[in-house]
Amino acid sequence: VKSIAVLTSGGDSQGMNAAVRAVVRSAHYYGLEVFGVQRGYQGLLNDDLRPMDLRSVGDIIQRGGTILQTARCKEFETAEGQSQAAEMLRARGIDGLVVIGGDGSYQGANKLSKLGIKAMGLPGTIDNDIAYTDATIGFDTAVSIVVDAINKIRDTMSSHERSSVVEVMGRHCGDIALHAGLASGAETILVPEVPFDLNEVSERMRVNFATGKRHSIIVVAEGAGKGDDVARVIHEKSGIEPRVTVLGHIQRGGTPTAVDRILASRLGDFAVRQLMNGDSGKACGVVNGQLVTTDIDKVVHTKRAFNMELYELAMRLSQ
Ligand code: ATP
Repeated sequence: VKSIAVLTSGGDSQGMNAAVRAVVRSAHYYGLEVFGVQRGYQGLLNDDLRPMDLRSVGDIIQRGGTILQTARCKEFETAEGQSQAAEMLRARGIDGLVVIGGDGSYQGANKLSKLGIKAMGLPGTIDNDIAYTDATIGFDTAVSIVVDAINKIRDTMSSHERSSVVEVMGRHCGDIALHAGLASGAETILVPEVPFDLNEVSERMRVNFATGKRHSIIVVAEGAGKGDDVARVIHEKSGIEPRVTVLGHIQRGGTPTAVDRILASRLGDFAVRQLMNGDSGKACGVVNGQLVTTDIDKVVHTKRAFNMELYELAMRLSQ
């Protein structure tokens, strides 16, 4: 490849900018021309691209969001939209593409790969719901934000001897809840991957309060239920009335952690090198510390394994 483009697609995540920076700087290092596509696949259809020089990605490694902006684009999901996008890239002499996004964005990259554009996917989502990578770009930051929020909630909970339900993001994946719950010493972690019984949760809370616990934090993954519903059932069953906090979009903003910046930098550079090697239709990831590529077809059809060992540890330590 001689000329590549980079886009961000789907929900944004912290570290996307660090990944864009890595793609642009590596491309220049290896003598490739590089374009930034504005607003994901929509930008391909609108021919909304600009050349990215070394300075265009200055001062963004620490910023949340994405300077390329992101979008969901229905038109691109049609075969016609996809061939139009491929034609547009070809007309500009662009033969490689790096797509930073989630599952849906990966599938778009795969379609373009089948139309002859070399395309690589990078996992950009806070949800950590992508297989064949230990973590996605943004996950570590989102977990840190949740832990920080729970620390604050905990201070006021202990003073008032209250319990709190904290609803966190993650879509169908419980990883944010699991990791943040373990790191913040939550009493209960409700995730879609593990069946739970709110009668048991309520009983445990009642017993723990009776034996001197001064506060109780229940972390609920959005994929497991609504914080309000969980709190209502607990109130009905135990008489304890938890306060509910829905953390929402603050989990997706703010400066990325060093871990996310390093992950994004490694993956962005790796994607460029893989394109230069002629690779296409692959997702880049880090598995046991090593950079790997996996067929997008395989990645999007594999459900990420849930870490039961961590979950059981969290439960053992939360008595
Ligand atoms: P996140 O998980 O963070 O929301 P995502 O990449 O899964 O990110 P989607 O909204 O599913 O987010 O996908 C983003 C865009 O990718 C869509 O708007 C669409 O343009 C494209 N896309 C999604 N699915 C497909 C598909 N099956 N084929 C082609 N393009 C797709």
